[in-house]
Amino acid sequence: MEFNEINSLFSSDKKQHFQRPFLISGPCSAETEEQTLQTAIRLKKTNKVHVFRAGIWKPRTRPGAFEGVGAVGLPWLQKVARETGLPVMVEVANENHVDLCIQHGINIFWIGARTTANPFAVQEIADAVKGKDVTVFIKNPVNPDLDLWLGGTERLINAGVRRIGAIHRGFSYSGEKLYRNRPQWQIAIDYTCAMPGIPMINDPSHICGNRHLLARVAQKAMDLSYDGLMIESHITPDMAWSDAAQQITPEVFKDLIDQLVIRHIRPESIEDYDVLARKRQEIDILDDELLNLLSSRMNIAREIGRYKKEHNITILQTDRWSEILKKFLDYGTHHGLSNEFIARFIKAVHDESIEQQENIMQSDKGE
Ligand code: PEP
Ligand code: MN
Repeated sequence: MEFNEINSLFSSDKKQHFQRPFLISGPCSAETEEQTLQTAIRLKKTNKVHVFRAGIWKPRTRPGAFEGVGAVGLPWLQKVARETGLPVMVEVANENHVDLCIQHGINIFWIGARTTANPFAVQEIADAVKGKDVTVFIKNPVNPDLDLWLGGTERLINAGVRRIGAIHRGFSYSGEKLYRNRPQWQIAIDYTCAMPGIPMINDPSHICGNRHLLARVAQKAMDLSYDGLMIESHITPDMAWSDAAQQITPEVFKDLIDQLVIRHIRPESIEDYDVLARKRQEIDILDDELLNLLSSRMNIAREIGRYKKEHNITILQTDRWSEILKKFLDYGTHHGLSNEFIARFIKAVHDESIEQQENIMQSDKGE
């Protein structure tokens, strides 16, 4: 794909211009000229990459880790563009980075997750690219805050940037870790609903933090109709100076892409359309029942709230709540519903009941 075609990805009728997935790959960090160029040459050979990525300013959570080679890497990236013909993209975190890149003919940027979390920094970047012919991808912020992500995007839109892409790289969390950054897919879905014209790229590398989950996450992104993928690659991944555990060779990258199943975003035949429409009608009927039941349940919770208020009884009865939770979890286990989902569902319902009862407790009239 030539750069002109990449431009069309970011026009309003993007879906008609390119075949999913739009692919970005390259090392987490440009380490040496040789490693950068060799990675790019091997990626070019796979014929699977639309844009080459490499970080030269690396925002690390803790000091002491490799923080990037800095501006000395810019000529290496120019060489990549010259020798492979691949457009190159770099992470920028401030005005100086933007200016240095533009001086070196690099005009595709991404804003990293730590930077998106800081509106001052995003505004500085937006001001720096104002009036320039650039493409800017904005990663989700490290924290699961849709508004920060949308807000960063709006700053770019307000600055007149016409080609904007979003990159979903997951969200920090604590506790037992399957992922390096928990995907929380719903946040990316909400982003796309709010910004339907902006292509959504998934970044399995930073979500997974390791190689063995990459293919699964990439496939899920394709099944959720994402427009593209950004996956880190390196000539010798184990020796990488940053994010070694999640990087793969260009050849493994090619295999991963070849094995993806790319499904149609919309039903292709009248028959598919009809079958789905009928099934969706069934779902709509059940959803109506669900809403009616929830509303009836909440009416009773309010009645109980009024009774508790009149008789001076506290809202939370822990024995009763433990019983309900156990009943739901048992039911879920026997009906193929995950414990996690059932617990989240009934806790949300219970929270709302408490909230409604608390409103009654705190109101003078009892309603
Ligand atoms: C990166 O892409 O190498 C990077 C630093 O990513 P993130 O901002 O998602 O942590
Ligand atoms: Mn990285």
